[in-house]
Amino acid sequence: MQVKLSDPIESLKGIGPARVSVLKKKNILTVSDLLFYFPRRYQDYSQIIPVAKLKPGQVTIKAKINNARTRYARRGIVLTEAIASDTTDSVRIIWFNQPYRQKSLIADQEYYISGQYKLSRSRYSLTNPVIEPVGAMMLNSARIVPVYPESKNLTSLVLRKAVAAALDYVPLIKETLPPDIVDELNLMPLSSAVKAIHFPENQAELDTAIKRFNFDELFPLLLANELNKRDLSTTSALEVRFNQQLAKKFVSQLPFELSDDQRRVIWRIYLDMQQPVPMNRLVEGDVGSGKTVVAVMAAVMALAEGFKVAYLAPTELLAKQQYETIVRLLKPLSLSENAVFLSGSLNKKEKQQALKTINLLSSAFIIGTHSLLYSDVNWSNLALLIVDEQHRFGVDQRMELKKHSQHLPHFLSLTATPIPRSLALTALSDLSLSRLVTMPSGRQPIDTSLVAPSSFDSFLKNLKNEINNGRQAYIVCPYINPAPDQDKKISVLETYAEYSRLLPKLKIGLVHGQMSGDDQESVMRKFYLNEINILVATSVIEVGLDVPNASVMAVYGPERFGLAQLHQLRGRVGRGKHKSYCHLILSDASDPNIRLRSFAQISDGFRLSELDLKIRGPGAVYGKLQHGKTGMNWLLLDDQHTIRLCRQAIEIVLSKKLDLLKYKDLAQQVKDAQSLTYLN
Ligand code: ADP
Ligand code: MG
Repeated sequence: MQVKLSDPIESLKGIGPARVSVLKKKNILTVSDLLFYFPRRYQDYSQIIPVAKLKPGQVTIKAKINNARTRYARRGIVLTEAIASDTTDSVRIIWFNQPYRQKSLIADQEYYISGQYKLSRSRYSLTNPVIEPVGAMMLNSARIVPVYPESKNLTSLVLRKAVAAALDYVPLIKETLPPDIVDELNLMPLSSAVKAIHFPENQAELDTAIKRFNFDELFPLLLANELNKRDLSTTSALEVRFNQQLAKKFVSQLPFELSDDQRRVIWRIYLDMQQPVPMNRLVEGDVGSGKTVVAVMAAVMALAEGFKVAYLAPTELLAKQQYETIVRLLKPLSLSENAVFLSGSLNKKEKQQALKTINLLSSAFIIGTHSLLYSDVNWSNLALLIVDEQHRFGVDQRMELKKHSQHLPHFLSLTATPIPRSLALTALSDLSLSRLVTMPSGRQPIDTSLVAPSSFDSFLKNLKNEINNGRQAYIVCPYINPAPDQDKKISVLETYAEYSRLLPKLKIGLVHGQMSGDDQESVMRKFYLNEINILVATSVIEVGLDVPNASVMAVYGPERFGLAQLHQLRGRVGRGKHKSYCHLILSDASDPNIRLRSFAQISDGFRLSELDLKIRGPGAVYGKLQHGKTGMNWLLLDDQHTIRLCRQAIEIVLSKKLDLLKYKDLAQQVKDAQSLTYLN
């Protein structure tokens, strides 16, 4: 039978069913997943030190082990002691609570012994070292040893063994870069780099592998950036004059004072829009930081000039919500008639009516989802395009707009989730970034707590309290169906049933991705209208839902969500004047991991995303490439060497007119990156 990278990990030799299930919990399903699950750091055990020369620290010796004894010490600790000797001297080894050690030691066998050499019980000893019989392929000692992102049952020891078993598959890894680039830039071929990132022969080899992956991360971005730049170098935008009176009037009608950050950002946008070249500005502001009003202020200027504005939301429901908000904001300026909701959900007649309105007005503010770009609107005087949650905007849409006009609109993209990649781009290209750092005043911080099983009742009390006070709650679960090997409480269906039983008098709604789009919307709509008290949902509610009356967010199986995702979920509450709560419902009584503990303490999305990268390490970051998502290591911003290599590679691609479509993964990454960069 032919082996493939897509083979399930079960097919690897020496990985038992228990290990397989632990790996699967980490989403490592195939051999390829395993090979692209990268270490987060390394321990250098490559120097073999004669025992006589040992100094405190992490060390490796090559020695025989004798005189092993196991006994019970105080407080129920099992102590195994032994003596390791090489030709120079002997040293004591201590293992705590590893009674199997004594039996497994083989007399006269030479071992590599790696671990901490330190003062223990008044003598220098090697404490809890890893030992490996001297043999062909060392995994845990006598080399630069990979340390993986670990969890309770998935230690680096297990991962090293599993990865080593998968190394036979490495030659099957196809090169993702054109040979011209690999050769001319002297890059390490992908398959060698994968092997070296796990088990490098030496530091130099490891450095070369890391260089290769840094290149892979940055190159699609910079190439996309360059392609976009060329593509757009000839395009112009409509100049939008600044009308001070109008701006003043708008601000004076707001029910609140603009924050300093909002003022600063809108001012930058006004400067950009007065230019005849398309603005390309990304506004990053945490959930609830008030991006909408900034966008609407930009729109107002364009409307006053008789131009069109389009606003794209990621979902129909959000588009509808934003439409209502926008109408409210435009009313005092007598511009609310100019706002038009246009979306796929409208029936034929409604759609015709909307199009008629748009074509009668010259300055329309058209609100909908991405599909509106394909509708029968004359876009030739589109001055401003606003995209909420920018990662969903693509090259194709841009091309669509170019069909209709020799102008491109000023582009304003709004996002709450900090994407290191786009931040990186702002440093490397002409994409401009504005950040709304401070929250509008008067916002109360959200109380985040970790709910252990023992405190579930007090959580429930808080939930009932809030609902009795007229508030609403979200309950989010990571899965739709209960799976046999999972804690059933983290499935939406089970949880829905449970809450229906626990709180029979309340109106409880259910929404998840397997429901039809219409059904999902109708449930969310009911929640929006306060016809539902508690909404049990999967992460479909993650982005954008704005229900200021909701004050409780409870997340089951929180360890199964990324920090950015949890942060988005938390951002669904605390949007109004009510004190709000986020409860992370833990599955068992064991200590929550550092991610969750930090999450409970940190409310700033930027800091959280930095932390996420730090905790998970580049392993998770690069590893994600395989799973269709990427994130850039922040360090790369300063990586002048990689940037230089990328520039050379771009030169090669363009001068040799390489056909990237032959390299499917790369082409896809470039395409994705192009949609991120949009304009230049
Ligand atoms: P997001 O940045 O997540 O899109 P929104 O624009 O929806 O946030 O704003 C969240 C809420 O904050 C809205 O109800 C909005 O009216 C309100 N808001 C915006 N700016 C301010 C401000 N400067 N002061 C008080 N409330 C504000
Ligand atoms: Mg928003």
